[in-house]
Amino acid sequence: MTEAAALLRARLARALADRERVAAFDHRVWSIRDKRLAAAARHPHWEALRRAAQAIKAHALDHLDSYLEQFAARAEAAGAVVHFAATGAAANRIVLELCRAERASLVAKSKSMTTEECGLNEFLEAGGLEVVDTDLGERIVQLFREAPSHIVAPAIHRSRGEIAALFARCFGPGQEVRADSIGALVEAARRAMRPQFLAAEVGITGANFAVAETGGIVVVENEGNSLLTTSVPSLHIAVVGIEKIVPRLADLGVFLALLARSATGQRITSYTTHYAGPQRREDAERGIRERRLHIVLLDNGRSRVLGERHHRRALACIRCGACLNVCPVYRRSLGHAYGWVYPGPIGSVLAPAMRGAAGSALAQASTLCGACTEACPVGIDLHEQLIARRTESRAARTPLAVRLAAALARRPRLARFLLKRLRRRPALNRRLFRAWLAPAAGVPTRLIPALPRESFAEWWQRRTRRNGR
Ligand code: SF4
Repeated sequence: MTEAAALLRARLARALADRERVAAFDHRVWSIRDKRLAAAARHPHWEALRRAAQAIKAHALDHLDSYLEQFAARAEAAGAVVHFAATGAAANRIVLELCRAERASLVAKSKSMTTEECGLNEFLEAGGLEVVDTDLGERIVQLFREAPSHIVAPAIHRSRGEIAALFARCFGPGQEVRADSIGALVEAARRAMRPQFLAAEVGITGANFAVAETGGIVVVENEGNSLLTTSVPSLHIAVVGIEKIVPRLADLGVFLALLARSATGQRITSYTTHYAGPQRREDAERGIRERRLHIVLLDNGRSRVLGERHHRRALACIRCGACLNVCPVYRRSLGHAYGWVYPGPIGSVLAPAMRGAAGSALAQASTLCGACTEACPVGIDLHEQLIARRTESRAARTPLAVRLAAALARRPRLARFLLKRLRRRPALNRRLFRAWLAPAAGVPTRLIPALPRESFAEWWQRRTRRNGR
């Protein structure tokens, strides 16, 4: 077993040990799945939308180089500055330099899995900046000093009581936060975060889509925090994965309908903001001032995925989280057991290309039931891709026991001879199958039954002889 596989197994075992938390997590995740199903069922053209999204994404990925160029040219024509970052580290450096040039000390950041992927918060904090996550779920995990457990609902593994205790601890002495009311929790967070929104010198966001036709980026959200994050500071930095490109503005009609329903079961998210160039701000004293918009286009392994014939379709992902919510492994993993920012089926497909050896074991964390493929709004064949990842993985090379079994299957007479002898020795038979074969075949948790005293062929011959046939 590789080190990565051993770590994965240990993390999963740790998660499973906390039965109560796993049951609550499973329940919450499953309820999002129910909302998605209901929302999809209400849409009269759901399957047609899925097919359209699949075709648009396939086209965009086939022409990604030219659409990226078009996007950058249009974005710059609209007044933005576009940077290309080959790695997460490069993106972090660009953002830190921009913040330093701004002489910023406080940065407000809205929800962005792309910046989580880069470890941007930690990098900026090491560079002397204070970073405040403004999405409520992200703020909760930031205060807990842990990673998001879900790509849409980052704090879904935490209970209301835990969050109330956290807020009471972090939002100042004497702060009483009621756990029995979501409204009270939200109000406490709002009171604590509002001054930070107003004082931040830089606002950082991700983007759900980057439209080549307009050079604009699109952010969807429910809390309005992204909008506020970019409304007060003079500098807005957006870190955007290169796969977020869609060719035309009209394509958004397809993706916005799919994303909201698949992520949260809503018809549309509360706020959808299209940033086509920097925003303008009316200042009572200084008149209309332009804000600055810098867009960092991030590769960080995506072009490697694009070059993989079987896996390039995974770049069509719109990060709705639907495949996580139906995955029987994810639902019992508390999210963190995957050990990186994108858990669940999509993360396991992307991990080997984006994380190397550390991500190669994740394809094993699947039952291959196909529920993820069925749920995916953009038609990514996730379970097929997981099978392909397993085949590719050095860690999952065919175990010796399976290769021996295959060799025997090609020599039926030898197989019959050996198995007949084994049947006559029940103790060895039991030991071989129960204790040795399952681990050697790479399925140590399975119980492989010992050989029966009589083979099917022998039973059949006996039966036909008895019936005189
Ligand atoms: S792979 Fe499909 S279902 Fe999973 S997060 Fe991406 S778009 Fe959603």
